[in-house]
Amino acid sequence: MPDIIITEFMDPKAVEATAKNYDVHYDSQLVDQPDELKALLSDARGLVVRNRTRVDAELLEAAPNLKVVGRLGVGLDNIDLKACKTRGVTVCPATGANDTAVAEWVIAAAMLLLRGAFLSTAQMLNGGWPRAEAMGHETAGKTLGLIGYGRIARHTARLAQAVGMQVAAYDPFVSTNDNCWKTVTRSEDLFALLRNADVVSLHVPLDESTRHLLDDNAIAQMKKGAILVNASRGGVLDENALAAAMKSGRLRGAALDVFENEPLTASSAARFADLPNLVLTPHIGGVTIESNQRVSQVTMDNVRRVLEESQ
Ligand code: NAD
Repeated sequence: MPDIIITEFMDPKAVEATAKNYDVHYDSQLVDQPDELKALLSDARGLVVRNRTRVDAELLEAAPNLKVVGRLGVGLDNIDLKACKTRGVTVCPATGANDTAVAEWVIAAAMLLLRGAFLSTAQMLNGGWPRAEAMGHETAGKTLGLIGYGRIARHTARLAQAVGMQVAAYDPFVSTNDNCWKTVTRSEDLFALLRNADVVSLHVPLDESTRHLLDDNAIAQMKKGAILVNASRGGVLDENALAAAMKSGRLRGAALDVFENEPLTASSAARFADLPNLVLTPHIGGVTIESNQRVSQVTMDNVRRVLEESQ
């Protein structure tokens, strides 16, 4: 039986390198075959997942020899950390390996929605020449409000400043003395940040304290005509509240990479129908050709290290 099970897509080169020394089972569709996954886990010491595989107490029960869970990414909301700790299973996120990819996605989305002109294609293919409507805004001089000021938000702040944005952030868990506040305005209050930002971007993990942090009440605080960007986790934003704010014209645009239910189905996407200036991407903010290689390498290094230490 295999020693390391990989349930979602990753860079095949990192799989090949690990397979030289370990018995590796790689099946990027295994996430959708829970019974087969449980059977394969009976002897496994390593499990490698992205964000879709739920590593809960029931799955761990099927993996009595498990020592390590390698996470191809950083959000850990699909992993029951308490259950892993109880069973002595080490959980290793690929910290830092996809910061650049997410930060670039956020800035690209903000610039595209502020400028507006890039959304003319459909009208132009129909023979339209929407020159007046396509006159949007510059990014320079606008204020970016970051909710959560960890690794990815800080990288995003640096890119935003390079294109001339002012940056403010709300993160009550980062000490007021932290050097990170030397270049970015610290906002003590979430609603004050929402009232001042032209673009709001979410960068918090999903947990009970952040679920629906951006609900209808919070969205109502945002500037009229502001833009909302979410590449954190779907549950942080109330999708119905966002759709209502866009329908009423309160928000100018939104870009969503993450959703309460993933993969997004046609029925749960229906709430977003007919909203202009809405960009939807399939949880790909952190995944580029380059970051996939880095994330895969870091994850396999983490898994091999824990397995070697536990021998
Ligand atoms: P991080 O741990 O470095 O930063 C998260 C920050 O959020 C921390 O500074 C923390 O203090 C802050 N925070 C927590 N609860 C908060 C609250 N209630 N209010 C305000 N701030 C709060 O994490 P990171 O590496 O920057 O990643 C952030 C999140 O981005 C991840 O948890 C993950 O869910 C998401 N992510 C998405 C993708 C993607 O492909 N779309 C890729 C990577 C990460």
